[in-house]
Amino acid sequence: MESRELYQDIILDHGRKPRNFHKMEHPSHFANGHNPLCGDRVTVFLEIEGDKIKDVSFEGRGCAISTASASLMTEVLKGKTLAEADELFKAFHAEVTGGAVPAVGEKLQDDFERLAPLEGVKAYPTRVKCATLAWHAFEAALKNGATGATVKTE
Ligand code: ZN
Repeated sequence: MESRELYQDIILDHGRKPRNFHKMEHPSHFANGHNPLCGDRVTVFLEIEGDKIKDVSFEGRGCAISTASASLMTEVLKGKTLAEADELFKAFHAEVTGGAVPAVGEKLQDDFERLAPLEGVKAYPTRVKCATLAWHAFEAALKNGATGATVKTE
């Protein structure tokens, strides 16, 4: 199978059956993301202990890209340190915006690979907002704790 088709299948699968798709009762951090251009809404919940992401989940409604991206994000972030999460976000953001992708540490190679199905959005600037929405909500949650802040893509 061509990797493009495989990638498409992964996005459709995560879009239809998102992983870690539930509200968290007592998150230490959570925030909302809103992408008005596409209508995507996502809430990211975190349970952070020390510098570790013990648990992460999300809920919301949006297009297949935004849902798949949030689903894949929760899979790669679970169990990571905040520094590792930041490293993954920087590399992923550069990848989908067509920037110079910083090298990720060996330990994070597999996780970064898992996000690869989304790299196709870089050819479609409006879809980049769909693919990065959950990550921006994640960052907003880290910054704002359990206040339930909202970030909007411009
Ligand atoms: Zn979207």
